[in-house]
Amino acid sequence: MIDMLNDFLLEGAPLELPEGRKIIPNIKRLLEEARKKKIPIIYICDSHLENDAEFKIWPKHCVKGTKGAEVVDELKPQPGDIIIEKRRYSGFFQTSLDLTLRELGVDTLILTGVATNICVLHTAADAYFLGYKIIVPEECVATIDEKAQQYGLEHMKNVLNAEIKKLDDVLKEL
Ligand code: ZN
Repeated sequence: MIDMLNDFLLEGAPLELPEGRKIIPNIKRLLEEARKKKIPIIYICDSHLENDAEFKIWPKHCVKGTKGAEVVDELKPQPGDIIIEKRRYSGFFQTSLDLTLRELGVDTLILTGVATNICVLHTAADAYFLGYKIIVPEECVATIDEKAQQYGLEHMKNVLNAEIKKLDDVLKEL
């Protein structure tokens, strides 16, 4: 689950993605099923330095240790969940995500969160380069508008070999 954090999802947040609030119940369903089935849940979270280079192109957001960098209340991590902090779009870049997945014996990722065409897409790209199979339940990713959503989903499907699926089908196959 990528970047379901206050600074992206709360009303009036610095990088608010209102569409992101609509996917909260869908992700919640998926997390609950995954927990029941003992599927590892990994929170990939923006956690920026006070003067992070990313703020040259984006408003200041998700500074490590602030309320804005916390996971939204509805999706808080549970004991046993894994949290990986990142400073760039990809959850793999300069983090322990790949090592963590290999230790868990994971070969398939179900990607959820925001934004479909930025952090989800770049995480999917690295996942593809590293040989992971990628599944994206389309009701569990969101971004700023429909055009960006379609671009992100099509790029992941056509270029990164991701399976774009309905949430219900993903739940059935868990
Ligand atoms: Zn960021």
